Amino acid sequence: MFIIYGWRKKMVGAFDAFLYKCPYCEQTNTTTIAVYSKYYHIFWLPLFPYAKEAHAGCSSCNAARDDNKFGPELTKQAKEIQKEVKHPVYLYLLTILFCLVVAAVTVASILR
Ligand SMILES: [Zn+2]
Repeated sequence: MFIIYGWRKKMVGAFDAFLYKCPYCEQTNTTTIAVYSKYYHIFWLPLFPYAKEAHAGCSSCNAARDDNKFGPELTKQAKEIQKEVKHPVYLYLLTILFCLVVAAVTVASILR
């Protein structure tokens, strides 16, 4: 189906989990936490971000899982990382363009 609006997600950062042992291969410091910004889009142009999501992957055994399958230690680290990572400004593209158009129309009507 051809979807012109909805939501998408984009990776905005990847961080190594600190002193974390992979539950599958039991290797330490092989897990990377990737943070994604979820955002609404219209015609694939970002409107605004509304949530962050974390995924973890192990570089040793390639086990991957999303944040509802994290254990308590990884959940804690992922939440701290998600707090630090900001949504990139370009994910507000259409909102910024809309504000610029409104400002331009307002200025033009004042100058008349
Ligand atoms: Zn592993």
